[in-house]
Amino acid sequence: MNLSDEWKKEALAIIASVREYIALQKLQGIRMLPRSSPFNSAAQAAVDPSHVSDSQNIPAHLKQNYLQAIRDDIGDCRRCKLHSSRRNIVFGVGNPDAQLVFVGEAPGADEDLQGEPFVGKAGQLLTRIIEAIKLKRSEVYIANVVKCWPPGNRDPQDDEIQTCIPFLKKQLAVIQPRIICTLGRYSTQALLETREGITALRGRFHELQNGIKVMPTYHPSFLLRYPEKKREVWEDMQKVQKEYLQSE
Ligand code: URA
Repeated sequence: MNLSDEWKKEALAIIASVREYIALQKLQGIRMLPRSSPFNSAAQAAVDPSHVSDSQNIPAHLKQNYLQAIRDDIGDCRRCKLHSSRRNIVFGVGNPDAQLVFVGEAPGADEDLQGEPFVGKAGQLLTRIIEAIKLKRSEVYIANVVKCWPPGNRDPQDDEIQTCIPFLKKQLAVIQPRIICTLGRYSTQALLETREGITALRGRFHELQNGIKVMPTYHPSFLLRYPEKKREVWEDMQKVQKEYLQSE
């Protein structure tokens, strides 16, 4: 390698780390850099992961760092009333580079205690559903629209969903899955921005602006109460599996 090749390699490495730095700043909500900054506007414009539709390619090996930056931004959140009763913020778990993401509504009491989504009874059923399509929990990513436990396991309220959903969108912008499976009414309505009911929406793919396919299905907690609905979820999951295999 001659001297100019070495300089070129060095320059490319510097550009890559500047982009990475700017992306992390943006994830932390910093939209402007000072005028005296060495970073130019083209570099600033390189990344804006705050909207699902604005997603850009983040190298797989950096995705965990980006997710951590989002978690750091959430901090010891007091943005909505749920902060006063929660024990842990339940951020999300799984493969940062997953092709398939499951999105629930909000943590329950077990998840609140353990700080991990879907670890209670409904979570065990979700794990079996994932395994039924020949995947492991560690291969997919699991998160909720609302990151704090609504006391008494009540449904999440509109203001809580609106406050928290930007963080889910940032997570999705980093992970960039091909498929999202929304579990139940709340995550489905929030991500598809509709008021239509889950019964009408489930069972077919919907597409987000950025091309991500969304399959709404019944929530595992609902299945625990109405086991006769498992057959419909199985049909939905077979469609998810088929799409997943095509994406490999
Ligand atoms: N129900 C959800 O929607 N999410 C969880 O994490 C647990 C139960």
